[in-house]
Amino acid sequence: MQKNLAITFYNRGLRSYIEVDLCRQCPRQDDKGCCGYYSPVFYPTDFAYLLQHRPSLIDEIFALPHITVLDSSVTLNQIIDGDGYRCPFHTQESGCLLSQDLRETICRHFVCPGINWQCEATLAHWKDFFDQLFQYEIDLNNRLAITLKEKGLSLRNLAQRPAYFKELQIVFPQLTRPAPHFFANYPQQETVLLTRAITSGKDWPL
Ligand code: SF4
Ligand code: SF4
Repeated sequence: MQKNLAITFYNRGLRSYIEVDLCRQCPRQDDKGCCGYYSPVFYPTDFAYLLQHRPSLIDEIFALPHITVLDSSVTLNQIIDGDGYRCPFHTQESGCLLSQDLRETICRHFVCPGINWQCEATLAHWKDFFDQLFQYEIDLNNRLAITLKEKGLSLRNLAQRPAYFKELQIVFPQLTRPAPHFFANYPQQETVLLTRAITSGKDWPL
C-alpha cells in the first residue's frame, strides 16, 4: 500500500530534531515502534539543556530503576514489556512522554529505514546538516566529558553530581560560543511530503 507522509526538519542548533507524521500510526502496529528497540543515552549536552529548561527531569532520570551511569552519561535501559521491551519514557497511550527538545540525540534524529528520507536527492541539505550536527555533538560531548574528568568530577559518584552539574553550567557556554557556522546556513524548518510503500507489523524495517 502506498502512503503519503510528511517529514519535518527543525534546525534548532543542538536541540534540532526530525518529526514524521507517520509515527502516530506507526506501521509496526505494536504501539511502540522504534522506541521498543532503543535505550536512550543522555550526555553532557543534554544535561546542559535540561539544567536550564527542565532540571527536574535530571532527577527523574537518576531515579529510574534500570540506568547505567558512567562518568559523563546515563543510559536508560529498556524495561521488559508484555511482548518484548520498551523505553521507560514510552507509554502505549501517548507515546513518548518527553517533548522533542527534552529528548537525547538519537531520539531527536532517528527516522526508521522504512522511511529512508536520506535517499531523497532533494533532502541532501538536511543530510549534510544532521551529519555535521551529529559529529559536532560527539566532539563537544567528548570535550565536555574530558574537561569535567580533569576537574575530578564524575556522575558515578553520587556526592559529586551537584558539583558536576554546577561545573557543566560554567564549561558548556565556554565550549559552545560562538555557535558553529553551519547552524546559520540551513533553514529553520522545512516540511516535505514523501510517498512510501507501507508494510505492516514486523515487515516494516527498523
Ligand atoms: S518505526 Fe518509523 S514510523 Fe514507527 S515510530 Fe519509529 S520512526 Fe516512526
Ligand atoms: S525517550 Fe522517547 S523517543 Fe526516546 S526511545 Fe524513549 S519513548 Fe522513544
